[in-house]
Amino acid sequence: MIAAALAILIAVTAGYALARRRAARDHRQIAALLLGLRDGDYALRAAPAHGARGAAFAAVNALADELAGTRRAGIESDALLGKLLGAVDLAIIVIGPRNTIIGANATAGTLLGADADRLTGRPVAELGIASWIEGTGIDRFETPLPGGAGPWEVRRVRFRRAGRDHVMLVASELSRALREEERRVWRGLIRVLSHETGNSLGPIQATAEVLMRGIGDADPERLHDGLALIERRARGLGGFIRRYADLARLPPPVPEPIALASLVRRVAALETRRDVVVETTTEGLADADPAQMEQALINLIRNATDAALEGEGGVAIRLAEDVRHITIEIIDDGAGLPRSENLFVPGFTTKPGGSGIGLVLAREIIEAHGGTLALANRADRPGAIARIRLPRAKP
Ligand code: ADP
Repeated sequence: MIAAALAILIAVTAGYALARRRAARDHRQIAALLLGLRDGDYALRAAPAHGARGAAFAAVNALADELAGTRRAGIESDALLGKLLGAVDLAIIVIGPRNTIIGANATAGTLLGADADRLTGRPVAELGIASWIEGTGIDRFETPLPGGAGPWEVRRVRFRRAGRDHVMLVASELSRALREEERRVWRGLIRVLSHETGNSLGPIQATAEVLMRGIGDADPERLHDGLALIERRARGLGGFIRRYADLARLPPPVPEPIALASLVRRVAALETRRDVVVETTTEGLADADPAQMEQALINLIRNATDAALEGEGGVAIRLAEDVRHITIEIIDDGAGLPRSENLFVPGFTTKPGGSGIGLVLAREIIEAHGGTLALANRADRPGAIARIRLPRAKP
């Protein structure tokens, strides 16, 4: 009896010791796995098992799978972000605490005259851009840098990371954008000028040649017609050049408080070739130069009516306002805009006897008033919309 009890006790004790050893082994395995995960080793997994042990191992394995997935997604999105930042034409520099660079893209590297990777850790003061991080929003800096003479437009974005202040600088060279725009305008201008001078000089030269050849038989009527053509063409060319000069001499607006709705009604009534319907529920108070604004509206309403005359339709003008702006839409039932990038190039016209100055002049005037002018085709039917946006009068 005693012997049997002893045997049971020994068996129980041995079983207990075995279970403890197994539990200790399991704990060590789980601890190793968790430490591995902490150190970024997501490849380790616990072996499958039954019961409560199996459930504990499966839970740790699920955690490892989850972390591995998150890390993979993180690496992929980092790589994508890196590629995107590398591809943009803007210089992007991230500055951490103590005003040192913690990241920069390739364009920033070119700008600062160093490999983007080698910029990390360098103080901004050493690179000559310390003034860029002061202040908020967008500013313009004249700083000459290894990658260009500037000026630079710098946008600052402040944020906190790991409880510390950071700032991201996004910089672009203004002069390059301006030069490209200038070049585009010049190209358009030269195209129009050579077309226009060619149109006048060609017939002048041909007529002069004919007249020179027949100079001996001196038929007075032929001579007169030839000279008249030369005179007409020279006058046309002179007028064309003068309109350009007028455009360059446009004086700055002298603004006064005016009700745009009344002005629009008055100008619309001047157009007699087609009905111009004015729809407005507001007076549209703005600070504007009445003479200049009238000129801009005359040009746009004339264009709309010219277009409407090609068909049966008319012209409608809608004036509306929101908190900050007044919008005037001049809507016609014409055939729509010609497919051209040159609408606003001085001298571009598709009309016989057109000057091609109307749109540019209207835009110059509206922009000098702090507004915008855009032309678009109608979405609901053929026709065009000229859309003017102007700031409302200050109360
Ligand atoms: P012009 O009226 O002397 O041609 P503009 O500068 O006013 O000069 O206009 C330039 C060109 O833009 C016009 O010749 C025409 O082809 C096009 N255009 C302007 N407004 C309209 C419109 N409402 N509908 C269609 N085309 C237009």
